[in-house]
Parts: sequence; structure tokens; C-alpha cells
Amino acid sequence: MTKMKKIKHEFCDLIPKSVEDGVLYISIPYATAIHKCACGCGWEVVTPIRTDGWALNWDGDTITLTPSIGNWNLPCQSHYFLVRNEIIWVRKSSFFAVTSRTRNIVQILRRICRNIIKKMD
Ligand SMILES: [Zn+2]
Repeated sequence: MTKMKKIKHEFCDLIPKSVEDGVLYISIPYATAIHKCACGCGWEVVTPIRTDGWALNWDGDTITLTPSIGNWNLPCQSHYFLVRNEIIWVRKSSFFAVTSRTRNIVQILRRICRNIIKKMD
């Protein structure tokens, strides 16, 4: 799987049945955009364009989607920004830093509990 660095966009009335890699399809009538995950995993990512979804900015040449696209529900867990047809990847390190910190807290709590149990004996 190769991470994409750029994406093309295509305005269409209907969401196409076959979504190509590296293309963001934008349907204005359905206020929806769809593309294949930029990590190359092949999953389709639907981004509804509405106030509680994504905002699409088209400058006549390139498109920008805000906020970022975080595919937490996909196995790849990809997270990237789509700015002027460029894909800006968010490093996973911040996510792993959070989980490893949680793991540390769990270990500390476990140790405290063990000590308490020892004292009770
Ligand atoms: Zn992916």
C-alpha cells in the first residue's frame, strides 16, 4: 500500500459505482463526496458535505475538505488533511503516544492495587 500525496477531483451528479483510486468524486445534488482511502487500503470513504459534516472549498482549480479525514472506523486508521488536492498525512505517533500513556497509567494502577492487596494480607 502506498500513501497517496495528491488526489484529483471530479464533479458528478451521481456517486459513481466504481470509485477509482486517487479521485475525489463530488456530487453537489447529493451533497456528498466519496474517495478511496488515501493509504491505498481500498476502502471507500464517504464525506457528507453539510454543516455537521465536511465543508468543501473549491477555488476554481483545487479543492479543500475540512475538517481532516480520520478513518478511525477503518482497519488502517488513516488520518489526513485534504488541502488543495494535496494529502497531508497526520502522523500516527500522537495516537500511539496516547495509548502508551494509557498503558502506563494502567500499569501504575495495577501496581498500586497489588500493594494495597499485599498490605491487607
Ligand atoms: Zn486506508
